Amino acid sequence: MATLTNVPTTRLAILDVLPDGFLSCRARDLHLLLDGPTLIELPGKAEPPLFVSILLHGNEDSGLGAVQRVLHRYLDEPLPRSLMLLVGNVEAARQGLRRLDGQPDYNRIWPGAPNDGKTVEARIIADVHARAVDRRVFGAIDVHNNTGRNPHYSVVCDLDPHTLGLAVLFARRAVCFRGIPGTSTASFAGLIPAVTAECGLPGHAANEHAAARFLKAALNLHELPDGPSDLSALDLYHTLGVVRLREDVSFLFGTDEADIRFDPAIDAHNFQDLPPGTILGATVHPMPLKMIDETGRDVAEQYFEVSDGKLRLRKEVVPAMLTTDSRIVRQDCLCYLMQRL
Ligand SMILES: [Zn+2]
Repeated sequence: MATLTNVPTTRLAILDVLPDGFLSCRARDLHLLLDGPTLIELPGKAEPPLFVSILLHGNEDSGLGAVQRVLHRYLDEPLPRSLMLLVGNVEAARQGLRRLDGQPDYNRIWPGAPNDGKTVEARIIADVHARAVDRRVFGAIDVHNNTGRNPHYSVVCDLDPHTLGLAVLFARRAVCFRGIPGTSTASFAGLIPAVTAECGLPGHAANEHAAARFLKAALNLHELPDGPSDLSALDLYHTLGVVRLREDVSFLFGTDEADIRFDPAIDAHNFQDLPPGTILGATVHPMPLKMIDETGRDVAEQYFEVSDGKLRLRKEVVPAMLTTDSRIVRQDCLCYLMQRL
């Protein structure tokens, strides 16, 4: 069944059993078991199923490790609840990349995206979404990793009690952001309680464990809790916008020549309260960044200023997902800026 070329599969594969070897397979080797994006539907004691997506970004493998741990636990007994498991970008996982050049980002093509249904991958994802909504899934959990140092946190697009109740099962920190259409979590907003679990760096057993605890807890719920019983149990943030480099701007993390030079330890700022005036880098550009808010406007000038060759914050903010991986900065973003709710 191995796919030996990069020709994308043209339709969704649906399995009702785990392929042999799945529970011990590394993300890089999944292409030996699966032809492409695959939905694995497993029965359990309770209905409706829990929907879980992993490897929408091929380099983010904590979700695979977490699912393997949980399913291993239930080898000799039925799952407490049925499971719909989407294994996403198998081809990118083979290369250890977020996505391949020429592929769309698997977490930007869900219904509601500007490119909705226009690519083979988006049509496959639309089939998954329709099937999950048809089965009125119990909740939707999308497991990711970060490329920079971040604590565990969830991303939600709704602040309803069931969504927050699901989020707090994973982590004390939750971020609300509706500004990126086409994510899995955004596509379920208003339909199904949905949470993105951001599990820190890939390749760390502790991050797999945290995701596994979350999945196991969600599978064992009889019903979704009405939010955290104690609201102070949740650190809730609202995202102000996503920060990207302007296309014509060169950048690096260090002191060599570039339009903007960022501090190589910039990801240490994630989830810290940063006061106005905080210096993020040295630049020769009048405004090297753009920052897109939930309405799609560029609000960079409101949050950043350049003076004396330094890029500074104008307002108190909390960054998340700051990364020092240049490829991720170009493929995705430099960071998100948030404020506490
Ligand atoms: Zn991701």
